Amino acid sequence: MTSLAQQPEQPAPPGEDPRTHLLDGHALDEYRRAVGDGVDRVARRIAAAHGPVSGTAAADLAPLVAAIDLDTPLPDTAAALDELEGIYLRDAVYFHHPRYLAHLNCPVVVPALVAEAVLSAVNSSLDTVDQSVGATVIEQRLIRWTADRIGLGARADGVFTSGGTQSNLQALLIARDRARAGAPAGTAPRRLRILASEVAHFSVVTAARLLGLGPGAVVPVPCDAGRRMRTDALARELRRCAARGETVMAVVATAGTTDFGSIDPLGQVADLCAATGAWLHVDAAYGCGLLVSRRRAALDGIERADSVTVDFHKSFFQPVSSSAVLVRERSALGHVTHHAEYLNPARDADKPVRDQVDKSLQTTRRFDALKLWLTLRVMGADGVGALFDAVVDRAAQAADLIAADPRFELACRPALSTLVFRFRCDEDRSDDVVAHVREALWSSGAAVVAATTVEGRRWLKFTLLNPRTTVEDVAEVLDAIAEHARDHLARPHRAALACAG
Ligand SMILES: *Cc1c(COP(=O)(O)O)cnc(C)c1O
Repeated sequence: MTSLAQQPEQPAPPGEDPRTHLLDGHALDEYRRAVGDGVDRVARRIAAAHGPVSGTAAADLAPLVAAIDLDTPLPDTAAALDELEGIYLRDAVYFHHPRYLAHLNCPVVVPALVAEAVLSAVNSSLDTVDQSVGATVIEQRLIRWTADRIGLGARADGVFTSGGTQSNLQALLIARDRARAGAPAGTAPRRLRILASEVAHFSVVTAARLLGLGPGAVVPVPCDAGRRMRTDALARELRRCAARGETVMAVVATAGTTDFGSIDPLGQVADLCAATGAWLHVDAAYGCGLLVSRRRAALDGIERADSVTVDFHKSFFQPVSSSAVLVRERSALGHVTHHAEYLNPARDADKPVRDQVDKSLQTTRRFDALKLWLTLRVMGADGVGALFDAVVDRAAQAADLIAADPRFELACRPALSTLVFRFRCDEDRSDDVVAHVREALWSSGAAVVAATTVEGRRWLKFTLLNPRTTVEDVAEVLDAIAEHARDHLARPHRAALACAG
């Protein structure tokens, strides 16, 4: 075992003195070499990738990982990276591949990767200005920029978060505390309710549970055929809550639902919120790409929100994590402020640049904002918007393809870049076909596709976030799906076999 206490007087040979691994003036050659080696290996994997995935299952990798003795290090970084090839790099899911069509994972832009290398090496922490100086100012500028794109007004503010889940949680925490503060002095707030469409993200329900709201606090509002919240139904639920003595602490409108990309009618929802005094939170985790696209008008009404979630790691081509929560009134963020004597004492609250920790659920926090900064400085907002527009265009073309293809049934026209569809067959075998097709595509390594449930049935889902995915790619994956589906249907039905047996 090496330990500093046992260090001999003479400098230890490199590799035995653990201090040689610290990034400081002694390690610069090794730093450049080792990081370069890591980057090279990723580049080689990308160059060699024939598909988005090798087809290896996680269960096959588990024993390899389990067999590694973590208490016995390898001789050097190169050896550790060699080992990593077999347990991670070879079989990772590569989102840059044009036939990765599954979840909301985007290919990432190079300026953001440069930023990742910079931000983790400098290792600024965005809690207090005295740990981050320029980083805090850069993050605040990006929040201002995003708020201006949304149109939230001069008093808006916000903070970067780890993702849409945390952004939604923080927005709903603010809404809950506002509702509580609004209850007459000395009385408990009436039962709190959150109204969100029936296809809103599950993190709304998670947030309600974390906020102690109890089961049934999130009331699902029915959607129209395009999977947008029905405002007549919203108005009815608002009246029902009032009649039952419940307080609607927030209405969550989704701008880009995870399955359908559908955008709730933001202006009409805002009207109903204004009429009833409900907090309007817009979850634009996916749809935020529209802020820089030529389709910006699709978000009209978002400027009336009290709070907004944006996920740059979904539609701004940023590496995970990069998200933000924004509020119209900066004082609303005071709901999470806690003054710790050792960190951000109240007596410092009027210093010229505010500590971001005063606005965040996190304390130590990555400088993720730098990725968006370098992206905007290299590509410009229009460059990012053009990438997002390309995938929305592609989804429309792919929808035409599927709608015209007698082999498939399309659930609805895409509003952004997702497609929900299925292979036409006997209703009672359809769920099974979806599961088989996904598995067969995965193990062949040819493509990765997702699935979801619509009205109790399983459907296949494409999420197009790669501007290099062509209509031909989509057509070939559809052919592969049809082939796997037919193979599967040609085999005897498991249920039928069970009956026969
Ligand atoms: C992905 C998503 C979320 C959750 O965001 P994470 O970054 O995964 O935490 C919330 N809302 C919607 C609509 C989403 O698509």
